[in-house]
Amino acid sequence: MTVHFPFQNSYSALPDSFFARVAPTPVAAPRLIKLNRPLAVQLGLDPDLLETPEGAEILAGKTVPDGADPIAMAYAGHQFGQFVPQLGDGRAILLGEVIDRDGVRRDIQLKGSGPTPFSRRGDGRAALGPVLREYIVSEAMYALGIPTTRSLAAVVTGEHVIRETALPGAVLTRVAASHIRVGTFQFFAVRRDTDAIRRLADHVIARHYPELLGTERPYHALLAGVVARQAELVARWLLVGFIHGVMNTDNSSISGETIDYGPCAFMDAYNPAQVFSSIDEMGRYAYANQPRIALWNLTRLAECLLPLFGEEQEKAVEQAQDILGAFPETFSKAYQAGLRKKVGLFTERDGDEALIQDLLDAMAKNQADFTLTFRRLGDAAGDPAADDARAEFMDPAAFDEWARRWRERLAAEPQSAAERQSAMNAVNPLFIPRNHRVEAVIQAAVNDDNYAPFEELVKVLAKPYEDQPDYAAYADPPLPDQRVLQTFCGT
Ligand code: AMP
Ligand code: MG
Repeated sequence: MTVHFPFQNSYSALPDSFFARVAPTPVAAPRLIKLNRPLAVQLGLDPDLLETPEGAEILAGKTVPDGADPIAMAYAGHQFGQFVPQLGDGRAILLGEVIDRDGVRRDIQLKGSGPTPFSRRGDGRAALGPVLREYIVSEAMYALGIPTTRSLAAVVTGEHVIRETALPGAVLTRVAASHIRVGTFQFFAVRRDTDAIRRLADHVIARHYPELLGTERPYHALLAGVVARQAELVARWLLVGFIHGVMNTDNSSISGETIDYGPCAFMDAYNPAQVFSSIDEMGRYAYANQPRIALWNLTRLAECLLPLFGEEQEKAVEQAQDILGAFPETFSKAYQAGLRKKVGLFTERDGDEALIQDLLDAMAKNQADFTLTFRRLGDAAGDPAADDARAEFMDPAAFDEWARRWRERLAAEPQSAAERQSAMNAVNPLFIPRNHRVEAVIQAAVNDDNYAPFEELVKVLAKPYEDQPDYAAYADPPLPDQRVLQTFCGT
């Protein structure tokens, strides 16, 4: 039997200027190292067939499956604030789209599958380390309940890629609601191609915002929709300590998914100014800057949509500003609501925000582990004698002082202690992809061809909110000598 993908491609039916038709470049000796079987089933694919040698060849780009219409998508983008009029898929090829079991259209894309007309000086390839990182972190985000692209498979190519040294090459199969970015709109805006912007906007509305079809001002509503989804997404990131690392406009998804896991990382100790990416020297994409940057990116999107607003320029700008003006409130609402849940407050009272801010300030001052502090707080909410959270603080007295106020406030809540604890555990993960774990997994795979650590980490991260006593060590922050200070794009 041959592997069948029930493709129903829509993006490749758009005008030629939207993409370049290009097939993946065959590789020497593809070997499947991971198939996400539940995701395969969700996509209507047969996981057993994908695990055959033929399946591995498809997932490595060596064979193009029937019904695929392989393309590299065109896009532009602001990279660290600098506009680049042409980027595009330089090392990714969209095989096509399938409708998943929930009726959602999903892109199936190979990343690292060879050069395209957008490769510029790049080789079109990906190294194994970054492929594993994206697999681990994107699937962890999914398990955390945060909108994200997903990873269907990772294969090694049997070839080397040359970075600073020769590294094993790999291909990731990425699944996304779509790969349309703010930068996709910018590509046409800089070319003053208003027809293309309208085609793209219509495609996006039909695909991601169907509730807006037939509304009076669909393009205004589209901007508002993307603003809302991005605001909520970034709030979700902050609530789990996630730092994207490269929030360029070409890495900012129109569907509201987290996309492009490069030098991303979860922070250990809480530090709003935390940066990991080796290329982010100015801290542009630091943890606490992410909401501001998301709004900056959305402002670039708004500029692209202005010609569709059907108004005089000045009026259109005013309308766009109004729509963008909703971002701070939408973000703040989502973020504050999330924080309230994290500390176990289910009713609202004056002073709550300040109480929570005081905790965050004390955590920052005391280098408290972000994840464990909140998780232990849940334990403390269930049992006042459980005071493990205080051990996260350099000066535990700082926690005690705050905890007194917190307990007073909890006394006014209607929930039982047990209810509160289980509600808090449902929003405060115990397991996140800690950098030192991700690094160790990558080292074992790259240096020793050993994927057992990868498998185990992926398994633990699939249930981030559950106590998994056998894997308790995965919750631990790094020891001082295990700390990872920088992450690299590794392109
Ligand atoms: P990224 O940093 O992954 O978001 O990529 C930014 C841009 O560089 C995109 O247009 C990518 O397609 C392109 N790019 C990154 N790595 C490579 C590579 N090895 N070969 C060709 N293009 C690449
Ligand atoms: Mg990118």
